[in-house]
Amino acid sequence: MPSAGIRINSGLAMGEAVLHQPRVSIPQMFGDDPKLEQARLGQALAAMHRALDSMFADKRLDGGGEHREVLETYRLVAEDRGWQRRMMEAVDGGLTAEAAVQKVQDDMRTRMSMATDPYLRERLYDFEDLGNRLMQHLSGDGGTAAGAELPENVVLLARNMGPAELLDYEPKRLRALVLEEGTAASHVAIVARALDIPVVGRVPDLLSRIDPLDPVVVDGDNAQVFVRPNDDVQQEVAGNILLQEERRRLYRASRNDPPVTMDGVRISLNLNAGLLIDMQQLAETGADGIGLYRTEIPFMVRSEFPSVEAQRVLYANVLDQAGARPVMFRTLDIGGDKQLPYFHDLSDQNPTMGWRAIRVALDRPSLLRHQLRALIHAARGRQLSVMFPMVSEVAEFDSARALLDKELAREEALGGVLPESVRVGTMLEVPGLMWQMPALLRRIDFLSVGSNDLFQFLFAVDRGNPRVAERYDVLSPGVLSLLRSLVGQCEAAGVPLSLCGEMAGRPLEAMTLIGLGFRTISMTPARLGAVRVMTRTLNVKPLASYLEKLFDAPDHSLRQKLRAYARDHGVKVEDG
Ligand code: PEP
Ligand code: MG
Repeated sequence: MPSAGIRINSGLAMGEAVLHQPRVSIPQMFGDDPKLEQARLGQALAAMHRALDSMFADKRLDGGGEHREVLETYRLVAEDRGWQRRMMEAVDGGLTAEAAVQKVQDDMRTRMSMATDPYLRERLYDFEDLGNRLMQHLSGDGGTAAGAELPENVVLLARNMGPAELLDYEPKRLRALVLEEGTAASHVAIVARALDIPVVGRVPDLLSRIDPLDPVVVDGDNAQVFVRPNDDVQQEVAGNILLQEERRRLYRASRNDPPVTMDGVRISLNLNAGLLIDMQQLAETGADGIGLYRTEIPFMVRSEFPSVEAQRVLYANVLDQAGARPVMFRTLDIGGDKQLPYFHDLSDQNPTMGWRAIRVALDRPSLLRHQLRALIHAARGRQLSVMFPMVSEVAEFDSARALLDKELAREEALGGVLPESVRVGTMLEVPGLMWQMPALLRRIDFLSVGSNDLFQFLFAVDRGNPRVAERYDVLSPGVLSLLRSLVGQCEAAGVPLSLCGEMAGRPLEAMTLIGLGFRTISMTPARLGAVRVMTRTLNVKPLASYLEKLFDAPDHSLRQKLRAYARDHGVKVEDG
């Protein structure tokens, strides 16, 4: 049985388990000569700083983005005077350098066990990591926790780890990362995404069930980890990895093939992004633009709200990298599982239906206004597209839009350069909004279906609860009718419609969406190649007529029928 976690970065990999458990040994507790111990500690600190400098110089980590910020923050922590002073004081008190490092580390650990604030936990974790690093320099091996012989294909497993610790492992050998605690905003996860390896987080009790060098398969797409898979599974996975690499090559080679169906319908294929590094995928995949830019992560990795200027720099960078391709910025969707360490505790009893996204923004308007101001500044003379998350009623959209208008008026009054044009849209994630479509469509410039949230609310099924998450199928008659009706209403009103939930990245679902009339979809980069291939093998007209017959069907799921349709009509719907 595979262990399930949460998807942090997609991809499939196989290798041997390397358990990240930094080893620490203290040869002697008390020193004979404090001066000597001070000198040893000072030298170890200097050596550690030099080693960090060369480690962070890895080419793969070049360029700006959150991963650089994370590493630079770590670098600042390493310079922390208070931490260095506490260790020196412990040496003055008679401890050896090693014992002093450990004492300060123990104090930190006690604090860590009580800290619930995720930012503080990351910081305390950095100190833990730095302490381990110092120990290695003191013991004279100068190397890293990962200095020992490593297998060729490393699947790294850890309870949690700091961003720099990941870089201790030769990036060339790193195939995947699995964390017992990590989330998408963990600093190590951000660096792992920059290295482009599959990452699965929140896999409980993993380390206790695994031995070093056990074979492990990591399926980042489905957030599953297979420990000691039997030979058959291993062979199959090895085959799939080859196939995946082959496909990746193929997709890359065909990234400039226009996503036009056999009967000449142009489909706009876009990417979902959330880190600056994701912007590189535009060139890699040949996508038309960014259909969803999630703005939460930069807020989550900091210790306080990023200033307007810090946000402006980030958004301007995103727009620079996008060039002529459009970017749909989604305003902050915090709350639920996306907590900000420096903001009120947003954990409600039922977080996905709690105080989140636009609800927070409208109750704390300065937060949204600052973000909108930064977006306006970033766009200067360029096109700006903004959409609001989790809008439940037209009145909410109006309130959010009014804040945007205020910011635009303010900018104008100050004589600033306005964006060349401003397009304002909303996500459709709350079913209630469906019953206000005419009023909504008169107000918006575009609409994007957030199918992940929309369907969890539509079916009243928690998307994070494995007991029910798979119970209903998005390829079911009710959902298809709903989407068809939406397409009809948007077409009649002349409002561009897209869909940016996960279903857009699955070829069979994407085929169905196109058959229903969607002409723009947005997905995670790893899926775009497969969806492009599907598009180019599809005839829309016959599929549209076929779907007409299914809206009224009593089936629980139409998946088999649609799969059979694809097979019979030569539509390539293999997953990427
Ligand atoms: C969605 O709900 O479909 C969506 C794209 O938003 P998120 O996954 O960020 O909640
Ligand atoms: Mg959503």
